[in-house]
Amino acid sequence: MRKPLIAGNWKLHKTLSEAKELAGSLAANLSDVTEVDVVIAPVFTALTSVAEVIQSSPLKLAAQNCYPVETGAFTGEVSPALLKDAGCEYVIIGHSERRQLLDETDHFINLKLIKALEAGLKPILCIGETLQERETDQMLEVLTTQIKGGLANLSATHMAEVVIAYEPVWAIGTGKTASAEQAQEAHSFIRGLLQGLFTKEVALATRILYGGSVKPNNVDGLMAMDDIDGALVGGASLKADDFIRLVRFEK
Ligand code: PEP
Repeated sequence: MRKPLIAGNWKLHKTLSEAKELAGSLAANLSDVTEVDVVIAPVFTALTSVAEVIQSSPLKLAAQNCYPVETGAFTGEVSPALLKDAGCEYVIIGHSERRQLLDETDHFINLKLIKALEAGLKPILCIGETLQERETDQMLEVLTTQIKGGLANLSATHMAEVVIAYEPVWAIGTGKTASAEQAQEAHSFIRGLLQGLFTKEVALATRILYGGSVKPNNVDGLMAMDDIDGALVGGASLKADDFIRLVRFEK
């Protein structure tokens, strides 16, 4: 059985005091949640403060990115080991905004994933096609390339710690959600890829989240799908009430 996971990606939002306030509100209102893993990913500068706020709650901390080197002359970068030290359990890797704005490649993303695992972090690997790729029937090819590239050199044992997030780029921050059926089709395809690359057990055990304009009014339909194990949420994770409703999805 795969435990559902709802993750909030706060992106480049929230001052320190706003981040602590939102984390405090979530911690207070989600203290009873045991059947869903709840993860929040504030900006780097808020990580340690938010870690303190949520420390006696079920909420887990994630970083939004990492650099695949432990220490050294890498001005401006943050290593997985330092994120672990700051209280993170998860790290988002390969978000489409980073792929598009910062030209991150599957190879670089794979290096980050390996270093994150070595540091004891659980990577949330983001994949997904653009609108143009979907409309020109390249979706399956793109997902295959991103999965194979992102998960290269990983073992079945590593995969126990890895979470995949399918995020069609055309649905991120646009208000356009993939229908539950479109998302299910992609998730089922991804699970098939995992079976081919690893084992049937790995495919069945790996959590695959959907991301792309998940809101209180569509979360239940998405979560009703067999292969959708949770959500990676941007916009709706910035408001306590909305995010709480997502965590308390109805099946
Ligand atoms: C995201 O940032 O990963 C995301 C899915 O954003 P939104 O929910 O705003 O579409």
